[in-house]
Amino acid sequence: GIHPSIPGGEGGIAPLQLYADVVFDRPLDQAWTYGVPEHLVGLVGVGKRVAVPLGKGSRETSGFCVGLRETGPPASIQVKPVLRVLDDEALVDEHLLQLTRWMAEYYLCGWGQVLHAVVPAGVREQAGTREVAVVEVPPAAEQPEPFPALTAQQRAVWELVRDSGGAMELRDLLRQGRCSAAVVQGLVKKGLLRRYRRRVERAEVQEAVAEAAEPPLLGSREEPRIVLNGDQQRVWGQLEAALQVGGFQPFLLHGVTGSGKTEIYLRAMEAVVRQGRQVIVLVPEIALTPQTIARFRQRGNRVAVLHSHLTDAERGAHWRRIAAGEVEVVVGARSAIFAPARKLGLIVIDEEHEHTFKQEATPRYHARDVAVMRARLAGVPVVLGSATPSLESWWNAARGHYTLLSLPKRVEARPLPQVRIIDLRHEPNKGGAISMTLAAAMERALRQGGQVLLLLNRRGYSTYVHCSSCGHVAQCSHCDIALTFHRCRNALLCHYCGWETAPYQRCPACGQASIRYQGLGTEKLQAEIAEKFPGYVCVRMDSDTTSRRGSHEGILEAFRTGKIQILLGTQMIAKGLDFPNVTLVGVINADVGLHVPDFRSAERTFQLLAQVAGRAGRGDKGGVVYIQTFTPDHPCIALAARHDYVTFAGQELAQRRQHRYPPFEHLARLIIRSEEEAAAAQFAQTLAGALQRAAAVVDRQSREGGTAPPGELPGPPPPLRILGPAECPIYRLNNYYRFHFQVQSPDRGRLQNVLRRVLGTVRPPAAVEFQIDMDPYSM
Ligand code: ADP
Ligand code: ZN
Repeated sequence: GIHPSIPGGEGGIAPLQLYADVVFDRPLDQAWTYGVPEHLVGLVGVGKRVAVPLGKGSRETSGFCVGLRETGPPASIQVKPVLRVLDDEALVDEHLLQLTRWMAEYYLCGWGQVLHAVVPAGVREQAGTREVAVVEVPPAAEQPEPFPALTAQQRAVWELVRDSGGAMELRDLLRQGRCSAAVVQGLVKKGLLRRYRRRVERAEVQEAVAEAAEPPLLGSREEPRIVLNGDQQRVWGQLEAALQVGGFQPFLLHGVTGSGKTEIYLRAMEAVVRQGRQVIVLVPEIALTPQTIARFRQRGNRVAVLHSHLTDAERGAHWRRIAAGEVEVVVGARSAIFAPARKLGLIVIDEEHEHTFKQEATPRYHARDVAVMRARLAGVPVVLGSATPSLESWWNAARGHYTLLSLPKRVEARPLPQVRIIDLRHEPNKGGAISMTLAAAMERALRQGGQVLLLLNRRGYSTYVHCSSCGHVAQCSHCDIALTFHRCRNALLCHYCGWETAPYQRCPACGQASIRYQGLGTEKLQAEIAEKFPGYVCVRMDSDTTSRRGSHEGILEAFRTGKIQILLGTQMIAKGLDFPNVTLVGVINADVGLHVPDFRSAERTFQLLAQVAGRAGRGDKGGVVYIQTFTPDHPCIALAARHDYVTFAGQELAQRRQHRYPPFEHLARLIIRSEEEAAAAQFAQTLAGALQRAAAVVDRQSREGGTAPPGELPGPPPPLRILGPAECPIYRLNNYYRFHFQVQSPDRGRLQNVLRRVLGTVRPPAAVEFQIDMDPYSM
């Protein structure tokens, strides 16, 4: 073995071996230990990446160093050496290490996987500053004579630098010269080399830096200083006190649409920035909240906006500026929660109920939950804001885990818009999607110079295509999904995998020319409006019309300036927009998301209706909302029409409790998928057995464990519930056959223990993929 001493001692210190714990971008739950050779001591560091040999073939693999220690594993275990250190500076600090470790345990994936996912590629590929060694002695002195005192190695190193143009990055020099930092240091002492740090940045990175200092996106007028109303003062008072005291404190800010929540965030941001600290603000999606972003930019002088169109290099540049403290406010979608703000003073999550905060790929984290944990680790307040909080957060407030702050009224005594329900079962129908009642209301609103928003949460023209002779339905050839007809591209499209085919003239099954286009999408609605309201400009906003960078902003700007009178679209139009001239909002079919196999469907429908209704009547002219539905008595529709979130939440929580759904029990979904149907089915059976055995062990342990955990009723804990295996609601997706399980328990620890055991005992065969989704949002 190698026994290097740690440099810097005055001698007499016993030689020490140093060991590094390394984690990899793999679903492994443990760190691997490597020995640190002498020339890398001092270079290896926690939070940096290293190259090490891994596995049977000792393939060189990079991983994150997550710990350094002086005691290694028992002598019987052979320790391999660290080969190289890949970063000059730690990519993640102690807080982010703790946070990612918690995520790995909570979401049951590898710590290295989490680190790999949260550090942007632009940072991993190109660390911020590099140390450069430069030849100090002028070329005239290049003969070997001036260096009598050099060792052969020192001389070789010096020549290497000279021959590469007189300057070399230190890490390249160490690698190519196969020397330790001490050799270079010897040359520096002799005045033959000079060392300094230099930023290595490409042109596009500098652009990103310039972009961060850009003026606001929209509405460049200077906002007048707003005087807080009574409710806002009460809320702000509580928040201000928490910010002064410091320490972890979670708040749920429940305020109806237009009640002035954003104004509260802005005050809090300003207070934190004045303390010289940093703020992270999460929004559901940058492109959908341009006005909110503009307001953040107006108030903060150094705001980094992390939008989804950034290049890797731009993202990397933002990351380094945030870490260096050059940015005071970070605004972004879910991954911004990992921004390396070292002086974090506050986290804000706007529209905390939005499901875009849930990541649907490993690590399958929920940014709201990660945010609360990060605030706890950093010891700072966190504010979750919404007009329609998630039931998880509402329950946390109800049981005292979060402090509830509420803004029950709109600012300046503006009323919430009146909502009228149109019962499609009894509404006289002259064909088309827009009922006569709604059409008349639109006519009125438009004639009076108002603008109209229409929500239809389905894109395309016809949502299914079938043969009226034999009943054949056009299906995706890779998924169990009916194809949607898109007229603008004259194609049948799968909304799940993107597969596309030409529309049929004749039925592919029976050969008859009796193809019917059924079901309503945004394209068909747009055609109907063009016919019924020929004098007005109507624009469609859905993912088909907004795929280019800037196209959202373009449409919204045209709507704001009155060039568009009718804006129709999917749930995109329901988010965070503040257009005072919108006097009518119409919901074409409120039932679209209601009858799906998902225990959150009522919650989602309520949220969508409340959000879109909140777009009406934000100015002096007032506003009205029409909701078309076949199920007017469904609580989520009836209560949304009355703007009664509190009653809805109470009723829905009672339902959840009765059916043992979250937030009363914790849920994990296990997904098995394979392109080979039999392999998927067989592994599902294997997993079923493993789950039963693991559950039996864990249930027995917790019975024998005696005392119930705090907050739980005494007595034997209820057993884990395992549902499955069952075919997923969409059995075949993108050529994969899929099965799933639901595993649930009132005790999260017990649920995680079972799954950890299962992960430790079963490995899927090569043809099968197996994933765990903790707190799943899609079923
Ligand atoms: P929310 O985020 O709850 O929808 P906002 O903070 O966006 O509400 O406020 C809605 C509108 O009211 C904004 O245009 C904002 O500038 C304005 N506003 C906020 N607070 C006040 C206040 N106290 N007095 C007057 N206008 C206000
Ligand atoms: Zn498909």
